[in-house]
Amino acid sequence: KHWVYAFKAGKADGNASMKALLGGKGANLAEMSSLNLPVPAGFTITTEACVHYFRNEQALPDGLVDEVEKALADLEATTGKGFGKVENPLLVSVRSGARASMPGMMDTVLNLGLNDETVEGLASLTGDRRFALDCYRRFITMYSNVVLNVSHHSFEDILDDHKDRLGVTVDTDITDKDWAKIIADYKAMVKSELGEDFPQDPKAQLWGAVRAVFSSWMNDRAKFYRKMHDIPEDWGTAVNIQSMVFGNMGQTSATGVAFTRNPSTGDSDLYGEFLLNAQGEDVVAGIRTPQALTKKAREEMGERSLSMEESLPEVFSQFKSTVDTLENHYRDVQDVEFTVEQGKLYMLQTRNAKRTSKAALKIAVDMAKEGLITPEEALMRIDASALDQLLHPMLDPKAEKVVIARGLPASPGAASGKIVFTADDAVRFAAAGEDVILVRDETSPEDIHGMHAAKAIVTARGGMTSHAAVVARGMGRPCVSGAGEMNIYAERGEFVSRGQTFRHGEIITLDGSSGEIMKGAIRMIEPEFSEDFHQIMKWADEYKTLAIRTNAETPADARTAIGFGAEGIGLCRTEHMFFDDERISAVREMILADDEAGRRKALEKIQPMQKADFAELFQIMDGLPVTIRLLDPPLHEFLPHTAEDMKAVAEASGVGEEKLYKRTKELSETNPMLGWRGCRLGVTFPEIYESQLRAIFEAAVEVAAAGGNPKPEIMHPLVATREEMAYLTTMTHKIAKEVFAAKGKDIAYMVGTMIELPRAALLADKLAETAEFFSFGTNDLTQTTFGISRDDSGRFLNPYIEKGIFEKDPFVSLDQDGVGALIKIAAEKGRKQRPDIKMGICGEHGGDPASIAFCHGAGLAYVSCSPYRVPVARLAAAQAAI
Ligand code: ADP
Ligand code: MG
Ligand code: MG
Repeated sequence: KHWVYAFKAGKADGNASMKALLGGKGANLAEMSSLNLPVPAGFTITTEACVHYFRNEQALPDGLVDEVEKALADLEATTGKGFGKVENPLLVSVRSGARASMPGMMDTVLNLGLNDETVEGLASLTGDRRFALDCYRRFITMYSNVVLNVSHHSFEDILDDHKDRLGVTVDTDITDKDWAKIIADYKAMVKSELGEDFPQDPKAQLWGAVRAVFSSWMNDRAKFYRKMHDIPEDWGTAVNIQSMVFGNMGQTSATGVAFTRNPSTGDSDLYGEFLLNAQGEDVVAGIRTPQALTKKAREEMGERSLSMEESLPEVFSQFKSTVDTLENHYRDVQDVEFTVEQGKLYMLQTRNAKRTSKAALKIAVDMAKEGLITPEEALMRIDASALDQLLHPMLDPKAEKVVIARGLPASPGAASGKIVFTADDAVRFAAAGEDVILVRDETSPEDIHGMHAAKAIVTARGGMTSHAAVVARGMGRPCVSGAGEMNIYAERGEFVSRGQTFRHGEIITLDGSSGEIMKGAIRMIEPEFSEDFHQIMKWADEYKTLAIRTNAETPADARTAIGFGAEGIGLCRTEHMFFDDERISAVREMILADDEAGRRKALEKIQPMQKADFAELFQIMDGLPVTIRLLDPPLHEFLPHTAEDMKAVAEASGVGEEKLYKRTKELSETNPMLGWRGCRLGVTFPEIYESQLRAIFEAAVEVAAAGGNPKPEIMHPLVATREEMAYLTTMTHKIAKEVFAAKGKDIAYMVGTMIELPRAALLADKLAETAEFFSFGTNDLTQTTFGISRDDSGRFLNPYIEKGIFEKDPFVSLDQDGVGALIKIAAEKGRKQRPDIKMGICGEHGGDPASIAFCHGAGLAYVSCSPYRVPVARLAAAQAAI
């Protein structure tokens, strides 16, 4: 077993398939080296070494030190430099790199190997003392911060004092003599903080950095990131040790980041930013405003400073062909980091680029059309859950707006919320249910929890590839970066822009697609869908076998769902049709009536309203199935809660308030979830279900008579026994017959049940004697299988998830082992009894890709989900089928 894998141009021990062992960065450095691309030589310490380190009280594994010594000697031979040698010193970077990319979450140290002597060697070798000192001061800052835990601010304070003294604003204006003074102050400060000198021995520096990179796997922000992205804790990080190349050697040197296509829009032009005479993190950290890579991009941005294409044309064309090679090789958009040292290009990193949903769609469709990937691959490339981002409202272009600042359109989507200036405030306000916009000069990995809690992010500094922009795109948060007109005074809790002051807690709106920031809350509208979206949906429909229906009660929801491609209604919850004031009081009257006559009187008011509602749904869903669930009222939700409610019911029903009050008490339940609900209501008060059935059949017959094609499916909720089902089916057929006879017209319909109780699942064959379809009501089935009330689970589910007892919230993602087992039993028994039985699921899980894949596997015919999730479900169903 090896702990170390080396790479140099033309030759590497590893390759791109070894991400688990070498981390993404290390595996791709090896792959690029094998492709003979210009990669500075180096070696990778495996993730297994890191795992060993954490399992053994931070001890290095046996053999690691020897292997590193050997690899270092080889690296000296390859580069012709000496580690710790004064003449021609070898400097290295020590870079973290886990299996999954965790941008900026863990630590990297550059220019390692410098000390008071080698820095002089570097100065005389290059003849550029200023450069050598620039590297040294960067190294002291980074190493002290990452390895010795000395705060960044201590260094910034010293640097700022010197800049004030010298009257300069940018680092590049500081001379070698002044850097020497700054470095002396840095070292003195480190010594006074730590009680010992800044480490001078390069080997000690190296092991200090390796251990720090290992340890950074367990820092808070890395832990948070892993939790958010479902990355296992026990993967560990690899460590890449790589010979340094220098982008800070003058005006023919540079450093930059690029995407082979635009990660925000998906546009196929090369996209990125670079800085002349700069090193490493300067671009990402937003220290200076970076320049465009291409002439076209510079012109579009209306910028003056030259693009890389113009200022370094030869390297640029080499760079362009290198990234084209990479994109073709990996068959996906690449996100690369590069450095130019005195006109010579070096590639430092490549990975598949993170992208917005909008870009993901466009890129997948474009690449399939270019023939780089197949349509199946295009479908598999899109994260179904992330499609959601595209389906949500955006700013109404007609709404009046007062623009208060403009920045870069860093991550699309619009959002309104209250201004907060710190990540902690964002978390606090969001926890109290407020929508907040996090406003910062720039963000850093320490802000990640606040960015997550915020609806959107605004920064005054930094480019399209700044930390804020990259993280916001990854999280699907709208973001405007580099809004330079905003002067942010976080400590005073305000920002000033275009002469106006905005305080903490005031509402602003931002549009991450245009880069505009506006005063107040702006009206939003439904999004429009791109050609790419339609193309992907078309391909999805070719591959999927599940039908996608929607849960809808209102005409508006039903229309939205049809627009998204719903193939019918899988769940129409009739109690949801009563939520307006006039109706709810009629329903209360019905529930509170103390005899059948009283109930019938109330039902007479309700029936015509229901009939009209059903007729409209049948018209909208013409020719498509509409599954109507008969009343399943959680009684307590419908009981009057206030004296006013009570009064309204009393007036409408003509029953005295006192009597109503008594009845309310009688009806209140200890455990409503397991109480008088579902078909238990229809069995005890058949006139309620009969009235609903009449409304459904009359509506259907009338719509059919007018030339429509209604397809009602009558669904009885919460059935547990064969006899219940038989009773309800008989009732349904009886009413249908009566209505059809009275109207002189028959229509086809189905009768079925929801499977929401374990007993129903276990004895599904008995239900299927009369039920023609099953719809798995997985919300209740999850409640009743676990014995956990969904409404109360919030208090204890999180600790369960944190302790790893539950992997996921079973109400969000179907418990395939337990609830899934019941579904499989029910499906099998149902089919045995009635081979053509139709089965689907409704409930939250119908829009969850993992649950959809399960339903596909269980051979169900359809899933039903909320209207906005329909496209997500279509894509997930196709992915399950591929
Ligand atoms: P992250 O994972 O945070 O991106 P990296 O390990 O990629 O951290 O390092 C950040 C930056 O440091 C790189 O983009 C590159 O600009 C610079 N860098 C890393 N290694 C070298 C090197 N060997 N020579 C020059 N610059 C380097
Ligand atoms: Mg990097
Ligand atoms: Mg599959």
